[in-house]
Amino acid sequence: MNENILIIEDEEKIARFVELELSYEGYRVQKAGDGREGLELLESQSFDLVLLDIMLPGINGIEVLRRVRKISQIPVIMLTARDSVVDKVTGLDLGADDYITKPFAIEELLARIRTALRKRGSPTLTSELMLGGLMLDPASRKATMNGDVLELTKREFDLLKHLLENKDIVLTRDVLLERVWGYDYHGETNAVDVYIRFLRSKIDDEYGVKYIHTVRGVGYVMREQE
Ligand code: CA
Repeated sequence: MNENILIIEDEEKIARFVELELSYEGYRVQKAGDGREGLELLESQSFDLVLLDIMLPGINGIEVLRRVRKISQIPVIMLTARDSVVDKVTGLDLGADDYITKPFAIEELLARIRTALRKRGSPTLTSELMLGGLMLDPASRKATMNGDVLELTKREFDLLKHLLENKDIVLTRDVLLERVWGYDYHGETNAVDVYIRFLRSKIDDEYGVKYIHTVRGVGYVMREQE
């Protein structure tokens, strides 16, 4: 373990309490009493997670988060006052991973820290695209069917990714051409059909499923059921 956690919190009692508990759990902990100090520490050292109080003197937590997200995807758990719904929403919009309302039970904070660290450990988890036995991981550009790795060309992968991202939505050939091949594509207009055929042979035909559906006169859609 020994992950390095930064607490940015101006209430010394809370910061101290959390520091003690986290240290006891085996984390390395550093404290910053305001946003500026926190940002300086984040720039000069490497941390695995930030606990960020929203109500801070000087630069507030929301602004700290905004600046952090410009340079880093480090997990951030916000510490919020009980009724600040706006802060929670703003924080999550700005890319906070989670928030916990004060006062909190230390067990709950520990659980949220573990979850946030676990997500960071497997960043693909949340971005995976799935349909039935088909799973596609954009981060590693890997696609599997029932656990078998599918051998896909770059174009096939991009097309499949786009179809999966728009699961249950019918996409026209024009839209697919534009989004997967790009505006400046001047090749054959039946490229989409050709690549759909490639994908079908590797997925639908190979595994006896029907994921890629033709919508006559319109385009294509991926879904599990007819
Ligand atoms: Ca505070």
